[in-house]
Amino acid sequence: MKILIVDDSSTMRRIIGNVVMQLGFSRENFDEAEDGLKAWKLLSENSYDVILTDWNMPNMNGLELVKKVRSEGSHTKTPIIMITTEGGKGEVITALKSGVNNYIVKPFSAEILKEKLDAVLKR
Ligand SMILES: [Mg+2]
Repeated sequence: MKILIVDDSSTMRRIIGNVVMQLGFSRENFDEAEDGLKAWKLLSENSYDVILTDWNMPNMNGLELVKKVRSEGSHTKTPIIMITTEGGKGEVITALKSGVNNYIVKPFSAEILKEKLDAVLKR
Protein backbone atom coordinates (compact mmCIF):
# COMPACT_ATOMS: atom_id res chain seq x y z
CA MET A 1 0.00 0.00 0.00
CA LYS A 2 1.44 3.35 -1.02
CA ILE A 3 -0.14 6.72 -0.21
CA LEU A 4 0.80 10.16 -1.58
CA ILE A 5 0.16 13.09 0.79
CA VAL A 6 0.09 16.51 -0.91
CA ASP A 7 -0.17 19.71 1.15
CA ASP A 8 1.83 22.95 1.21
CA SER A 9 1.73 22.99 5.01
CA SER A 10 4.43 20.77 6.53
CA THR A 11 2.41 20.73 9.76
CA MET A 12 -0.64 19.43 7.92
CA ARG A 13 1.46 16.79 6.11
CA ARG A 14 2.77 15.66 9.49
CA ILE A 15 -0.75 15.53 10.97
CA ILE A 16 -2.06 13.52 8.01
CA GLY A 17 0.99 11.23 8.12
CA ASN A 18 0.45 10.63 11.83
CA VAL A 19 -3.19 9.76 11.27
CA VAL A 20 -2.23 7.41 8.44
CA MET A 21 0.23 5.70 10.82
CA GLN A 22 -2.47 5.50 13.51
CA LEU A 23 -4.46 3.54 10.95
CA GLY A 24 -1.75 0.91 10.85
CA PHE A 25 0.46 2.10 8.01
CA SER A 26 4.19 2.72 8.46
CA ARG A 27 6.40 5.58 7.28
CA GLU A 28 7.37 3.50 4.25
CA ASN A 29 3.74 3.52 3.16
CA PHE A 30 3.61 7.19 2.25
CA ASP A 31 5.39 9.92 0.32
CA GLU A 32 4.85 13.66 0.71
CA ALA A 33 4.75 16.56 -1.75
CA GLU A 34 4.38 20.27 -0.99
CA ASP A 35 2.53 21.25 -4.16
CA GLY A 36 0.90 19.82 -7.25
CA LEU A 37 4.05 20.07 -9.35
CA LYS A 38 6.13 18.02 -6.90
CA ALA A 39 3.23 15.57 -6.57
CA TRP A 40 3.03 15.21 -10.35
CA LYS A 41 6.75 14.40 -10.47
CA LEU A 42 6.36 11.68 -7.79
CA LEU A 43 3.28 10.32 -9.58
CA SER A 44 5.23 10.00 -12.82
CA GLU A 45 7.99 8.04 -11.07
CA ASN A 46 6.03 5.86 -8.64
CA SER A 47 2.86 3.87 -8.27
CA TYR A 48 0.35 4.93 -5.57
CA ASP A 49 -2.83 3.33 -4.28
CA VAL A 50 -4.40 6.54 -3.05
CA ILE A 51 -3.69 10.28 -3.25
CA LEU A 52 -4.59 12.63 -0.37
CA THR A 53 -4.41 16.23 -1.56
CA ASP A 54 -4.98 19.73 -0.28
CA TRP A 55 -6.71 22.27 -2.55
CA ASN A 56 -4.93 25.58 -1.89
CA MET A 57 -1.23 25.28 -2.76
CA PRO A 58 1.28 27.36 -4.75
CA ASN A 59 2.62 26.40 -8.22
CA MET A 60 -0.07 23.81 -8.98
CA ASN A 61 -3.10 23.66 -6.70
CA GLY A 62 -5.02 20.53 -5.75
CA LEU A 63 -7.81 21.01 -8.26
CA GLU A 64 -5.31 21.47 -11.11
CA LEU A 65 -3.48 18.37 -9.90
CA VAL A 66 -6.70 16.33 -9.84
CA LYS A 67 -7.59 17.38 -13.39
CA LYS A 68 -4.08 16.51 -14.63
CA VAL A 69 -4.02 13.13 -12.84
CA ARG A 70 -7.44 12.26 -14.27
CA SER A 71 -6.49 13.17 -17.84
CA GLU A 72 -2.94 11.90 -18.29
CA GLY A 73 -0.29 9.59 -16.86
CA SER A 74 -0.65 6.26 -15.06
CA HIS A 75 -2.94 7.30 -12.17
CA THR A 76 -6.15 8.15 -14.05
CA LYS A 77 -8.02 5.55 -11.94
CA THR A 78 -6.17 6.03 -8.63
CA PRO A 79 -8.53 7.12 -5.81
CA ILE A 80 -8.12 10.76 -4.75
CA ILE A 81 -9.31 12.21 -1.44
CA MET A 82 -9.27 15.99 -1.14
CA ILE A 83 -8.53 17.31 2.37
CA THR A 84 -9.19 21.04 2.47
CA THR A 85 -10.64 24.01 4.31
CA GLU A 86 -12.76 24.69 1.19
CA GLY A 87 -15.88 23.04 2.56
CA GLY A 88 -18.54 24.95 0.62
CA LYS A 89 -21.10 22.99 -1.39
CA GLY A 90 -19.89 24.57 -4.64
CA GLU A 91 -16.29 23.62 -3.95
CA VAL A 92 -17.23 20.04 -3.07
CA ILE A 93 -19.24 19.69 -6.30
CA THR A 94 -16.41 21.21 -8.37
CA ALA A 95 -13.90 18.80 -6.81
CA LEU A 96 -16.12 15.75 -7.31
CA LYS A 97 -16.83 16.75 -10.93
CA SER A 98 -13.08 17.05 -11.51
CA GLY A 99 -12.55 13.45 -10.40
CA VAL A 100 -12.07 13.53 -6.64
CA ASN A 101 -13.45 10.30 -5.09
CA ASN A 102 -13.99 11.62 -1.60
CA TYR A 103 -13.76 14.84 0.34
CA ILE A 104 -12.66 15.78 3.87
CA VAL A 105 -13.01 19.24 5.39
CA LYS A 106 -10.27 20.43 7.80
CA PRO A 107 -10.10 20.07 10.71
CA PHE A 108 -10.83 16.36 10.58
CA SER A 109 -10.64 13.41 12.95
CA ALA A 110 -8.66 10.20 12.51
CA GLU A 111 -12.01 8.35 12.33
CA ILE A 112 -13.16 10.44 9.35
CA LEU A 113 -9.93 9.83 7.45
CA LYS A 114 -10.12 6.09 8.21
CA GLU A 115 -13.73 5.98 7.03
CA LYS A 116 -12.96 7.78 3.76
CA LEU A 117 -9.79 5.73 3.12
CA ASP A 118 -11.69 2.51 3.72
CA ALA A 119 -14.43 3.72 1.37
CA VAL A 120 -12.13 4.54 -1.55
CA LEU A 121 -9.89 1.51 -1.01
CA LYS A 122 -12.99 -0.69 -0.49
CA ARG A 123 -11.32 -2.42 2.48
MG1 LIG B 1 -2.86 24.64 1.52
